[in-house]
Amino acid sequence: MKKLVAFAALLVAVLSKEDFRGHQVFRIVPKDDVQLALVRVMEDILDLELDFWSWVTPVDVRVPSHSLQVVKSYMERHSIKYFTMIKDLQALLDEERRQMKSAAPAGNTDSFDYTNYHTLSQIYSFQDMLVVENPKLVSKTVIGHSVEGRPLNVLKFSTGGSNRPAIWIDTGIHAREWVTQASGIVFAKKILTEYGTDSVLTEILNRMDIFLEMVVNPDGSGTHNQRTTEKKKNIKQKQNEDSSCVGVDLNRNWNAGFGGRGSSNNPCTETYHGTRAHSEPEVKSIVKFVRSHGNIKAFISIHSYSQMLLYPYGYTRNPAKDQAELDQVAQKAVTALASLYGTNYRYGSIIKTIYQSSGGSIDWTYKKGIKYSYTFELRDTGHFGFILPANQIVPTANETWLALKVIMDHTLKNPY
Ligand SMILES: [Zn+2]
Repeated sequence: MKKLVAFAALLVAVLSKEDFRGHQVFRIVPKDDVQLALVRVMEDILDLELDFWSWVTPVDVRVPSHSLQVVKSYMERHSIKYFTMIKDLQALLDEERRQMKSAAPAGNTDSFDYTNYHTLSQIYSFQDMLVVENPKLVSKTVIGHSVEGRPLNVLKFSTGGSNRPAIWIDTGIHAREWVTQASGIVFAKKILTEYGTDSVLTEILNRMDIFLEMVVNPDGSGTHNQRTTEKKKNIKQKQNEDSSCVGVDLNRNWNAGFGGRGSSNNPCTETYHGTRAHSEPEVKSIVKFVRSHGNIKAFISIHSYSQMLLYPYGYTRNPAKDQAELDQVAQKAVTALASLYGTNYRYGSIIKTIYQSSGGSIDWTYKKGIKYSYTFELRDTGHFGFILPANQIVPTANETWLALKVIMDHTLKNPY
């Protein structure tokens, strides 16, 4: 019986493990808009099952083994330049899983392994440990539940006062951007260790609160010790109406240019915006929280990858009315970021720096009057893409933290 149970468990483990054996990631370098349009044609050929990781030229795309030959000959036929960015995706994922399994369980946040990726339950227990260890500085609020009923936890860092001006930081809105939530863990620990030792952070926390939602999209984030959703940006196990495809892009679901260009009404695409603005509980919970708080002064949403610091707008070419100031702060922030390891960031408005994208979170928060609305795209620029090796987590978080402090400090010193 015992053996049978063990076998069943093994079977479940094997079956639930998504397999990317033979998958490669190509970096495509279209030389003009005509070639880019030719690349886009491939996106609509659903049989190819291509998974576009990045549309910022050059274009990165995961190609399943059964489509490798077709894609290669298509590019060669049209003389489109490309090269193989990741030869063996499964090998990278296997290594990531091996490292996760080898991590020792932590009994407290000092012995927690910050240099590794973690399962959702490990992240949640980290949050609880942090609260237990620092009851005077941090508390946990559940602002809602995901489609599958998982709690949406927000940590509140506060030294007192009532409804102080606040900073919002979120990570993990796009499920496969694992380095963002791993960085969120590091940020949380940093806030507590730097309070009282770092003058900038101390001053910020003496007068403002910081809210941190580490896993905005818990259903897609991998409840096992593996990435369960390498394919979809932000899968949720809810069947979309009239479609066999699941999941909504949570960063296209906000009421700012909702449904416009740079989002899709096709449930089978990565940028599907959902049936209506704020239809998704993960988005609706933040909207409700921001509205009822009423005193959030900076809203920072963290993504990966491509090393950029962006501000509104994404849905329109009209410049934000605070563009000059937002740009200046962004420049200071990326300079601080680069000061640690020389990591180079581009910065600017979303639409000018990446592409048009409608229904995004920071466009909504900016329109709601949160002036300091920013989005980060963390490391890298396309060597590992979403599968950033775990040994880059802490360096990524450390450098990003410097940029975050610039934005928070500016927010503190420029009340509005
Ligand atoms: Zn993202």
